[in-house]
Amino acid sequence: MIEERDYIIVGQGLAGSALALKLLEQGKKITVIDLPAENNCSRVAAGLYNPITGMGIVETWLAKEIFAELNHFYRAAEKKLAAQFLFPQSLYRPFQSAQEQNNWMAKTADKGVSQFVEKVYTNQHYANMVKNPFGGILLGQSGYLDTTAFLSAVQQHLISNGCYSAEKFEIDKLVIEPQTVLYKNLKAEKIIFCTGVDTLHPYFHWLPIRKLKGETLAIELTNHPETILSKGVYIVPTAKQNLFRAGATYSLTDVSPAVTIEATEELTAKLDSLLNIPYKIVNQQWGIRPTTIDRRPILGAHPKYSNLIIFNGLGTKGVSLAPYFAKQLANWLVGQGEIQREVNINRFKPLYSRS
Ligand SMILES: Cc1cc2nc3c(=O)[nH]c(=O)nc-3n(C[C@H](O)[C@H](O)[C@H](O)COP(=O)(O)OP(=O)(O)OC[C@H]3O[C@@H](n4cnc5c(N)ncnc54)[C@H](O)[C@@H]3O)c2cc1C
Repeated sequence: MIEERDYIIVGQGLAGSALALKLLEQGKKITVIDLPAENNCSRVAAGLYNPITGMGIVETWLAKEIFAELNHFYRAAEKKLAAQFLFPQSLYRPFQSAQEQNNWMAKTADKGVSQFVEKVYTNQHYANMVKNPFGGILLGQSGYLDTTAFLSAVQQHLISNGCYSAEKFEIDKLVIEPQTVLYKNLKAEKIIFCTGVDTLHPYFHWLPIRKLKGETLAIELTNHPETILSKGVYIVPTAKQNLFRAGATYSLTDVSPAVTIEATEELTAKLDSLLNIPYKIVNQQWGIRPTTIDRRPILGAHPKYSNLIIFNGLGTKGVSLAPYFAKQLANWLVGQGEIQREVNINRFKPLYSRS
């Protein structure tokens, strides 16, 4: 018997989870199809969010709007799902040199940056834990999402509302009609692909989504740092006392589905130059991030089939980007508002005509 839905969502990583919650909030009938793959980068993620990133000392793109939505969305989700997964925590970033210290001192006069700065230390701080002869900067409005707790809570919610199916989505079973799509016994107005780097064929393979592999280490520390630490490598708490996630690596060339010794060496070298205390490596994980050539997500309808939608390209910042753009996409789907130009699939239309 055919079951009617408003939307089918394929994929329950950060993108699919955030979108599912937003559409349920709008009163829509959905089914989420997901088969957690080997590469589930949302579960591997350390979950770090931080409005000031990179060496350039600038607030990240749309930081004010995106971080306001991040807090609002995960807090509301915690309430709805009766679980805890958002952990705001300051981030301490030791300076690498006197030059970097000077740059930051100058930069904190900048209003955009200063709103995120809690304190600048010109002498070493947390010396019992970290090597920081030039001091460092304590950044606020940062923290981490326990992604596993979030995804599990969303999955449970979907199961108890009868809108989750644990199965591999088979694209050749999808029937596209002018106003609807059919998938096995499901009939929906639209289908939204939130599949990360997987299954873009045959409808979305022309999009410039690049695989960026990342590896992290789980490490045990006997001392608990007061803050998230970050200097070339970040150290983020996990749900387990004394267990931390350290990462990450970035590789466009090796996208093999396995951990590598090169990543172990890179991360341990960085940990050694950051930490003043011993640490024990407990395990190593890998995942593949869906990044785009212009570092912006991709949202919108297939150029030919308007009932095939994509929500992808969250890259290295899925935790912060997912809530804001899930809201934008959900609103657009129900006819309230537009998809902004920078993330709209339309920017890549010329690639489709050439494919
Ligand atoms: C090592 C590492 C560390 C990271 N750290 C951070 C961090 O600290 N902070 C941060 O913001 N971001 C981080 N990221 C990036 C973040 O993980 C991604 O931006 C985000 O997870 C992308 O989410 P997604 O939902 O688009 O994709 P995914 O998480 O890949 O989800 C896609 C889902 O679709 C499912 N799927 C695919 N094909 C099918 C099919 N045919 N049938 C059924 N299901 C299917 C998959 O099983 C999966 O569940 C990190 C990534 C890595 C790899």
